[in-house]
Amino acid sequence: MIEIKDLHKSYKIGKNSLHVLKGINFSVEEGELVAIMGSSGSGKSTLLNILGMLDEADLGTYHLDGVEIKNLTEKTAANYRNKFLGFIFQSFNLINYKSALDNVALPLYYQNINRKERMERAMSYLEKVGLADWAKHLPNELSGGQKQRVAIARALAGQPKVILADELTGALDSTTSYEIMNLIQEINDEGKTILVVTHEDDIAHMTKRIVNLKDGVIIDDRKVKQVKALENV
Ligand code: ADP
Ligand code: MG
Repeated sequence: MIEIKDLHKSYKIGKNSLHVLKGINFSVEEGELVAIMGSSGSGKSTLLNILGMLDEADLGTYHLDGVEIKNLTEKTAANYRNKFLGFIFQSFNLINYKSALDNVALPLYYQNINRKERMERAMSYLEKVGLADWAKHLPNELSGGQKQRVAIARALAGQPKVILADELTGALDSTTSYEIMNLIQEINDEGKTILVVTHEDDIAHMTKRIVNLKDGVIIDDRKVKQVKALENV
C-alpha cells in the first residue's frame, strides 16, 4: 500500500539547513496497523506530512497504492488526499461552526457525492463511532474524546485506502486514549490500513508493528504482540 525508498528531507532555516529525514525506507501492506514511534523532534510528523502529501521529500521515492507520488500540483495533491487518505490529528481539526454530522460529511462533498447520500453516509459513520445522538452538536459542545471520534468518523467517511493519525491521543487523558485506540483497533480489524504516529510507548504497543525513528533514521522495525486497548482501561 505504501512504499518509500531512501527518503530525505531538510528544512531551510535562514542560511542553515536542518537534515530531518536521512534516508528512510519502509513499506506498509494493506491491512497493517503500524506505529511510527520516536521522541519529540525525531521527524515523525515530517514523515507523516510527506506520506500525507502535505509536504514533499527532497530525495527518494514514494508509492501509494502503486501510484508514484511526485511533483504534484496543489490540485492533484488535494485530489489524491481525498481519494486515498484519511487524516486524524492531535488537535482534532474539526470545523467549529459545523455540526458533528456536517464535519463528517465534508470529505464526501469533495468527492462530488450528492447531499442526501452524504448525510446518510456521514450518519452511518457517526453511528459507527458511537455518536449518533450527537450529530447536531457543534464541536465545542463535545468532550475531547468525542471530538476525536468525530474526526475518526470523518477520516473513515471518504473510504480512504490509508488512515494517517498524528499523535491522535496526545490531547486526551489515558482512559480516553485507550478508548480511542480501541476504536482504531476495531477499524483495523475490519481491514483498514492505519499508521499511527506517537511518542508514547503504550499507544505504540496497541498497534501490530512499531517503526522506531531516531535522529532521522529508522533504528528498529518489528512486529509486536498487540495489546488490546480495553485490557489497559
Ligand atoms: P516530531 O513529530 O517527531 O516531533 P517533527 O517532524 O515535527 O518531529 O520535527 C523534526 C525536526 O524538524 C524538529 O527539529 C523540528 O523543529 C524541525 N521542523 C519541523 N517542521 C519544520 C518546519 N516547517 N521548518 C523548520 N523546521 C521544522
Ligand atoms: Mg510531531
